[in-house]
Amino acid sequence: MSKLNRQKIVDSVPQTGFFGHPKGLFTLFFTEFWERFSYYGMRAILVFYMYYEVSKGGLGLDETLALSIMSIYGSLVYMSGVIGGWLADRIFGTSKAVFYGGILIMLGHIALAIPGSVAMFFVSMILIVIGTGLLKPNVSTVVGEMYSENDTRRDAGFTIFYMGINAGAFLAPLIVGSVSEAYNFHYGFAIAAIGMFVGLLVFIFTKKKNLGLAGTAVPNPLSPAEKKKTFTIFAIAVVAIGILSAILIPAGLLTFESFINLVTILGILIPTAYFIIMYRSPKTTEVERSRVLAYIPLFLAAVMFWAIQEQGSTILANYADKRTQLEFAGISISPAWFQSLNPLFIIIFAPIFAGFWVKLGDRQPSIPKKFSFSLMFAGLSFLVILIPGYFTGSDALVSPLWLVLSYLIVVFGELLISPVGLSATTKLAPAAFSAQTMSLWFLASAAAQAINAQIVKFYSVETEMAYFGTIGGASIVLGIILFIMSPKIQGFMKGIK
Ligand code: GLU
Ligand code: ASP
Repeated sequence: MSKLNRQKIVDSVPQTGFFGHPKGLFTLFFTEFWERFSYYGMRAILVFYMYYEVSKGGLGLDETLALSIMSIYGSLVYMSGVIGGWLADRIFGTSKAVFYGGILIMLGHIALAIPGSVAMFFVSMILIVIGTGLLKPNVSTVVGEMYSENDTRRDAGFTIFYMGINAGAFLAPLIVGSVSEAYNFHYGFAIAAIGMFVGLLVFIFTKKKNLGLAGTAVPNPLSPAEKKKTFTIFAIAVVAIGILSAILIPAGLLTFESFINLVTILGILIPTAYFIIMYRSPKTTEVERSRVLAYIPLFLAAVMFWAIQEQGSTILANYADKRTQLEFAGISISPAWFQSLNPLFIIIFAPIFAGFWVKLGDRQPSIPKKFSFSLMFAGLSFLVILIPGYFTGSDALVSPLWLVLSYLIVVFGELLISPVGLSATTKLAPAAFSAQTMSLWFLASAAAQAINAQIVKFYSVETEMAYFGTIGGASIVLGIILFIMSPKIQGFMKGIK
């Protein structure tokens, strides 16, 4: 997008009206609040819905399989951001992509709200994967479009937006978890659908007034010839997938297992391809090439971090359900409620961390060092769970406070990597690839969960000590290695701080 266009977009957005920020931030904040409300609300009960027996309202799937499906689901949701970003860039523009995404997500939750079968669950999964791919990266891109290049409010704007994400993620498990416990899972999923509906209403009714031209431009539109080619390839791909599934599924060749393995491979191959393409592109300059190299260890660290963080909604959710005292201090705790802890701690500590960085100014640790501390906290969050396991053994239930402590520690790591990583990605990615950087960062979460789909198979009550010990220990060792390599990586970053 040219400089002139950029300024025209900024001028079209009312520049104040939401805590001293552009009015459009109100629209994007609440759209993303409700989208995350529906996503994290759904995920807080989905794992239990999958493995609870049919008599308890679940699908009665095998527990390990349910944990793997949760992981590949999470992986696909972030992987599809690559397609969502591309569609916005070349066909729809971000605003339309957000709108269509919201509709698909809502339909996905409605599919789960209707009591149905495993087939219904897969329909819902497809809708939510595509819908989130369209909405999630693009709504963040629009946030960036509302500020002029040197507007000092930009970082604060993203912080407010990030609080919106976590406010939605905090409220949803409490509400959706309680409703599904009081009635049944389908009522819970219906609440998630209503959440996305409210998000869409906010978006539709306030976008014209608040967002101006933001999100309306198609930065790099397809030429008519390219359009024709793309639609042909798309149609062939859909038909091919349809035919292949019709042959492979009945023949027993495409099973849950093989599908999970396929996604794991894609989760690793896609970011690898991205790196190779960025590195070799003739549009990438010498300095940018060095930055791409610096970004690789940071990306790998992010994969390790998200692998642990995302197990908060799979392995730790299972631990909450099976290994934790849920009658505590006179209250009966729903296992879904634990999912509110991470976002709650993010909301409490994000401003404290932000203030701390401002106070430290130039004396703050470098980006690679922050990443290395993040891995150490992530590792520690798994190692603390060894303590109750060691003292109580695997027969007795443990106090829920251990899980609270684990979710607290991982948040310290998250605050050192999540906001830092996003801004580092935008600075380190070559200019020719800047439109895709949002999706590139989400690919770390996609790869992490693709790997998790395999790792979670090793978890059981009997193996929990070895499981938490190995993964937690690996993260700490990687953190130490990254710490030692930090000055070198910083050198490759060529002046980026
Ligand atoms: N939890 C954050 C969100 O939902 C971060 C996602 C990620 O980068 O994995 O937006
Ligand atoms: N902290 C996550 C994010 O920033 C939310 C979660 O895991 O519940 O959105």
